[in-house]
Amino acid sequence: MTTITLDNYRHKGLRIQLVELLRSKDISDEAVLSAINEVPRHVFLDSSFVELAYQDMAFPIGSGQTISQPSTVAFQTQLLSLTKGMKVLEIGTGSGYQACVLAAMGAKVFSIERQRNLYFKTKEILEQLPFRVKTFLGDGFEGLPTYAPFDRVIITAGAPKIPEVLVEQMKTGGIMVIPMDNAVGEGQTMLKITKMDDGSLKKEEFGDFKFVPMLKELGND
Ligand code: SAH
Repeated sequence: MTTITLDNYRHKGLRIQLVELLRSKDISDEAVLSAINEVPRHVFLDSSFVELAYQDMAFPIGSGQTISQPSTVAFQTQLLSLTKGMKVLEIGTGSGYQACVLAAMGAKVFSIERQRNLYFKTKEILEQLPFRVKTFLGDGFEGLPTYAPFDRVIITAGAPKIPEVLVEQMKTGGIMVIPMDNAVGEGQTMLKITKMDDGSLKKEEFGDFKFVPMLKELGND
């Protein structure tokens, strides 16, 4: 069983510094900054990385996966324009950190992970935290028809295309934030997709990022 290390003054101090760093990197949504300030990122990393948990870096979390960089988490969350009570679908639970940031903002979070071991490891950590996140083991490309429609969809793995099924599971006026594989085959372009009243999709681009790939089959690593 993975037992989490309690938050101490040092962690809290490091988080305040992280929030200031994110402000300097154009994160201006106070609700996002306050959630970053609230969620103890060190509990999502293997204990050998605790000292580095509040630097703006991505880290390995096992099963060949990574916890996204805080500035990327903040950037994607800011693009969602989230308000309290919204239903959010996350693809790629990974460490569970992004899911907790969304929950700290008052969202009802439904998160899917395809890697079995990671799914169980993260579930254990989430059960010890005060953030309400529902996690599911499955293929994110299929979404969660039982819980649809969602106000927001956030994809935290590099997607080869816009998953139609996930667009269908989104409310009109809903927003999807998705890192989409770019034409060069290196990394992704961050897209914000808004589902318009007539069903068409408004697409806006927000720069280049690097994510682990969104894959179809369940994994056992
Ligand atoms: N949001 C995570 C970042 C995880 S990295 C965090 O805050 O830590 C991306 C994750 O997406 C990985 O854990 C990977 O296993 C998962 N993933 C990849 N393809 C997927 C799919 N089709 N369905 C669900 N999860 C997927």
